[in-house]
This record gives sequence, C-alpha cells and structure tokens, in this order.
Amino acid sequence: MFLTISTTGSAESPATDLGFLLHKHPDKAQAFSTSYGTAHVLYPEADAERCTAALLLEVDAVALVRRGKGKGRGGAPDAALAQYVNDRPYAASSLLAVALSGVFSSAMRGVCAARPHLPGQPRPLRVEVPALPARGGPGLVGRLFEPLGWTVTAEPVPLDGEFPQWGDSRYVRLVLEADTLTLAEALRHLYVLLPVLDDAKHYWVASDEVDKLLRAGEGWLPGHPEQQLITSRYLSRRWSLTRQARERLELVRLAEADDSDVEAIDNAVEAETEQEERPTPLAVQRREAILTALRASGAARVLDLGCGQGQLVQQLLKDPSFTEIVGVDVSVRALTIASRRLKLDRMGERQSARVTLFQGSLAYTDKRLKGYDAAVLSEVIEHLDPPRLPALEYAVFGAARPGTVLVTTPNVEYNVRWESLPAGHVRHGDHRFEWTRAEFRAWAGKVAERHGYGVEFVPVGPDDPEVGPPTQMAVFRTGTAKEEKAA
Ligand code: SAH
Repeated sequence: MFLTISTTGSAESPATDLGFLLHKHPDKAQAFSTSYGTAHVLYPEADAERCTAALLLEVDAVALVRRGKGKGRGGAPDAALAQYVNDRPYAASSLLAVALSGVFSSAMRGVCAARPHLPGQPRPLRVEVPALPARGGPGLVGRLFEPLGWTVTAEPVPLDGEFPQWGDSRYVRLVLEADTLTLAEALRHLYVLLPVLDDAKHYWVASDEVDKLLRAGEGWLPGHPEQQLITSRYLSRRWSLTRQARERLELVRLAEADDSDVEAIDNAVEAETEQEERPTPLAVQRREAILTALRASGAARVLDLGCGQGQLVQQLLKDPSFTEIVGVDVSVRALTIASRRLKLDRMGERQSARVTLFQGSLAYTDKRLKGYDAAVLSEVIEHLDPPRLPALEYAVFGAARPGTVLVTTPNVEYNVRWESLPAGHVRHGDHRFEWTRAEFRAWAGKVAERHGYGVEFVPVGPDDPEVGPPTQMAVFRTGTAKEEKAA
C-alpha cells in the first residue's frame, strides 16, 4: 500500500525543498513503526527539477486484528478470520492515512522550522495512489477532490488485467494534480478523504476523531459540497459522532457566513410581513395567536425554539405569568440582535432572571430543552430541509417533551392571495418547503400519534373560504400529568 507525492522546482524553490517540508531527508530511506506495521519513507527521485517522496506501509495483519479485538470488536470466530484474509494489508488506505499523519505530522500542520516561509507557499503537487479502494467509484473521487482545486484522474483498476471481461475491481488508480495548494493542505485532504473513499470499518474511531476531522478539515470541509458524506463516512457512520461533527461544522459555517447571508435568514419573517396587508401585519397576528394559546395552556416556563431576533421573547416578558422564557436559535447573529433588542445587558436583575438566550440546533437532541411547560416553533420548520424534520421531531416531541407545543408555518394555498408573490413561488428564499393545510395536518397528525400528543389546528390571519388562512398553527398537548406517568 503506498502513495507518492511529487513536486517540481522553480527559481525560488528547488523541488528538493519537499524534503524540508516533509521533515524527511531525500537522501535517506527511513522506517517508522506504527501500531499497524511499518511505514517507510523514501525518495525514488530527488533533484532540483523533480522530487518524489513515497510513503509505503507494510501492514502487520495479525497486529491489526489483535488491535481490533483489544478494542472489543472481535466478533464471531469467522468474522475474525475474515479480518485476516481481507485485502487490508494491500489496500488499507485508512491505515495509510493514519501513517501519513504519524510520519508527516509537522508537514500536515504546516510547520517547517528550517524554512519557515515554505509551508505557506502553494507549489505544483502531484499525488499518486496506484490502488485506492474507492467505494463510490471514480465519480465520487472527482466529487471529493475537484472542489478542493485538484485535477483528478481516477481510472478503475480491472479485476484482472488478463480477463477484462471480469470487469472492474473496487480500486482506482488515483492521480491528483494541483498548483494552487500547499503541501499541508494536500496532506490534510488525503488524511480525511482516503479513509472516506475506503469506507471500511476503522478500528480507531473514538470521540477524539471528531476533533481530528475538524482540525484536518479546517478551511476546506465546512464549505465542501459533499460535507455530509465525508463526515458520516469518516466517522464510520457513528450517528452520535457524526451529529457532533455536523453541529460543530454548522457553527463554523455560521461564524464564517457573510453577515448579509445570516441576516437574510433572520429577516425572513419580517420580509414576509412587508408583503402583507396592513394595518395588522401577519407577524403581529401570529404572535398574538401564540400568546393566546400559551395563556390558555397555563404555561409558565416557555421555550421559543428558533426565536430569531427575539420579538416573541420580548412579548412574553411583558406578561408576568411567564416566569421563565428561553430563546434558542442556531444563528448566533440572530441571538446577538435579540439580546440587543431585549437590552439584556441593561435589564434589572428580576427581569433578566426570567430570560435566557442560547445557541443550539433543533436538529439535535439537547438536554437543556427538557422540563418546560411549552415550546413555540414559530415559522421555523419550513427552514429545515425535509430530511431533517424527523430529527427535529425527535428532539422536540421525543426528548424535550414540553406539555404544549405550538408550531406555525405558512399555508402555501394562501400564496395566490398575495399580489406581490409570483405564482408558484414560496414566500421567502430560505423556505425549504411550504405546505398545504392537508400536508401540515398529515405531518402534525403523525407526529402527535408517534409521541403521544393530541393536536388541534388554529387559523392565523384572515381565514379565506377557498384557500384558508395565511398562517397555520398546530397546538399539540400531552395528556394530563397522570396519564403521562401511567404511559
Ligand atoms: N420564530 C421567529 C423567527 C422565525 S425565522 C419568528 O417567528 O419570527 C426562522 C428561525 O429559525 C431563524 O432565526 C433561524 O436561524 C432559525 N433556525 C433555522 N434552522 C434552525 C435549527 N436547525 N435550529 C434552530 N434554529 C433554527
């Protein structure tokens, strides 16, 4: 199992600078022992014009299996046998990635004491992996590396050269070329993407893998179009780790997002309001409907999930029957605006004891959301991609389980009544969907049934005889406390 990294020289930097960058002298062949076998570094060619470093990993299959067992993953005897006879010693690109980070750790971090200016400079690079296990084939290889600036050649390796009729193996011969990347970037791409393509069970997935992934992915993973696939495969599809990683990547993305992007989302509802009939904007009517339903439920401790810029929190604060109000949003920017709106820093102690704002994503279960009387999701669900709705459903109705949940969302049927809205358009660019009354009822009905809630529907805004109201609200309630305990 091996890969080569080559570079060419220029007037400023001879190709042999690769030796400084990798911290491995081109004149020496060196061996390093790793937990899976021996890694060799050697230079098949090294002159001012061209320099190639090869990393070769000799895997010790027995040590590998022992190590796997030591971690409690031995399994049935035949499973253990399968581990001995698999292709791992020859094509274990996941192990190669581990060796890469062990042997070239300074290079990966972009550190070079001898030539401090070198690591920051992009240079012509060519990486070749003659036999790379690639689940997803050459197409996926392209989708993973091309967005990062690589020119990709991925040729399927036939199962047997003499018998082409047998078709292709799951290996490709991979050649990557770029001249806009630094060596550190290249190594970090390989470190993450080789195991992703291998997609074999790793033996070493532990919670610090999330840190490793995010460190190696810094600067390129947050914006990568295949981020989800990369994260999930890298973490061996361990849901809890993948979730952690996605959550943290989302924070990075939001921190890096242009203020204007986030503001666009934050302003979604206000923008919608502007298209509406005056004098009572729909957003105001919505908040009134929510307040009425909350008061009717007798709730004192209330969550505003996806609180946006804090308008509802501000309203709730005015009513002393709400003793504890918690605003949660995924957008830090929205929360900053909310805290400014509420003047949290200038609030008296008694008032400020009633209100908390924190950052969190509703696509993940969150212990902090447990134990409240009511939760409001006002114009939030339509901002999630439909495949993430089950996660939100579980986080709110399954895990947090407030006694009352209010969900509002646009009624798409009403859109024809808005003169300024072109036919077939949603009300705001960030809405991932808008539902008809029947669609919303079907969803809410199933949610209620799955989680032991009753549900009723309340129109918000003028209830048009043909197309219904502009906003639809579902009011979910659990049974009495007694029924809850009995269940
Ligand atoms: N509830 C407010 C704001 C609605 S706009 C109102 O009715 O006026 C939708 C809000 O949901 C935005 O602030 C957005 O940042 C937030 N949001 C979107 N996806 C989210 C998620 N996964 N977790 C938490 N908040 C989310």
